[in-house]
Amino acid sequence: MPLPLRYLALAFLLSSLPGCSPPSPYDVVLAGGRVMDPATGLDALRNIGIAGGKIVAISEEPLAGKEIVDVSGHVVAPGFIDLHAHGQTTGDLQIKARDGVTTALDLEAGVYPVAEWYREMEGTAPIHYGATVGHIAARFEAFHPGMEVGHWAINRAKIARLGARPAGANQTAGEEELRAIGEAIREGLDEGALGIGFGINYTPAATPSEIESIFRIAAERKVPAFVHTREFGMAAIAETIALARSTGTALHIVHVGSSAIGDMPEVLQLIDESQAAGMDITTEVYPYTAASTALESAMFNLGWQDNLKIDYGDLAWAATGERLTEESFERYRKQGGWVIIYMMKDENVERAIARPGVMIASDGVPFIDGKGHPRGAGTFARVLGHYSREKKLLSLMDALAKMTILPARRLEGHVPMMKDKGRIALGADADITVFDPATVRDAATFDAPTAPSEGIPHVLVNGEFVVRDGGLVQAARPGQPVKTSP
Ligand SMILES: [Zn+2]
Repeated sequence: MPLPLRYLALAFLLSSLPGCSPPSPYDVVLAGGRVMDPATGLDALRNIGIAGGKIVAISEEPLAGKEIVDVSGHVVAPGFIDLHAHGQTTGDLQIKARDGVTTALDLEAGVYPVAEWYREMEGTAPIHYGATVGHIAARFEAFHPGMEVGHWAINRAKIARLGARPAGANQTAGEEELRAIGEAIREGLDEGALGIGFGINYTPAATPSEIESIFRIAAERKVPAFVHTREFGMAAIAETIALARSTGTALHIVHVGSSAIGDMPEVLQLIDESQAAGMDITTEVYPYTAASTALESAMFNLGWQDNLKIDYGDLAWAATGERLTEESFERYRKQGGWVIIYMMKDENVERAIARPGVMIASDGVPFIDGKGHPRGAGTFARVLGHYSREKKLLSLMDALAKMTILPARRLEGHVPMMKDKGRIALGADADITVFDPATVRDAATFDAPTAPSEGIPHVLVNGEFVVRDGGLVQAARPGQPVKTSP
């Protein structure tokens, strides 16, 4: 019997003995909230009892607890699961906690070496963390042995030291490099990585046959490929889907807002049709019309304007907000740093947010001196407040499904511990977000990108408060690793 259920049995036994008053079986009780659980459709007033980091009671009756928190007037939802979170520093994860996120995973860029990254993260995280093994980082290791990129999005400086056109991104792999990349990927999967992450646009020299060989590893190991496609638009997405189909690989296309760019209706239709035809294929979107990435990356190699369908003036230097010119583009590209890319139309982003099955994921990049893209701070509250409540693009329950049970299900086939997340259920992990449906809203903007979301008073991770009464619990570090095997 799992430990928490034993608490319940004990409480029952004690309460049935005459003259013996029961001890409080619960560490924390969330009392009087509107519990919304997209997995079961439950939407009703309930009291939640938490013990040993698990949800052990969901009751219409009042519950006694060591600590009782009145959450009446608020929604009690499963903590949000972000499948696309590059910002994995303590500070970045704290900002995400304020947005209701209790699990933040970097499945696109990923990491290499894997075991070492998980070790470094131990004890640093207020919320749960995890990553794929990254094809980008594995590729750099093959061309620059001993480099150990680690977390690509955070350790970009290591790559920048290699100069303007590093081999890891710009050189075709020979037999030896291909073997080394494959070995690194397998090693990462052996160490518990959550699948294989690809940023093909950042490694333009990776040929279709190289990508195919890595997809075959994903298929053989029964883990998904999380893919930022070779280019933006329908052609590259169709090519990736065809490759996944022919190799039998489960596929997740990241940030469909930017990836599909002007082809959103066709891309969403192709994904739905592929699903209906039996493919294991999913996608995600962040609720902003501007993208962001590293200006020094290979995405800005010659020809970037055709790929992104924009020009210099559509780029802004994240540190200052200034729009770029050809001159400042060249200067900042040598220096290296984050740019904001104004490239999407709101109607297309809205199509993806409203589409059943499309998950919400932030693609939040690490904040540097409080600068960056607001998606790392406001994605989830923005969907709940702006797109669900104000624009009525989707119901509150549907919005919550896209940030809880759908991402949990994307992973639980090969990551068993995800079966205990994304749900308000007996025995589930007590990862819980409490928000006010009338006021929840994003506050982060391009001028103030780290401003915390509002209307989210409490966030618990494994039953421990990380956000309490609308403020961060600074010292809380209950975050645990998410891996394929514990
Ligand atoms: Zn990307």
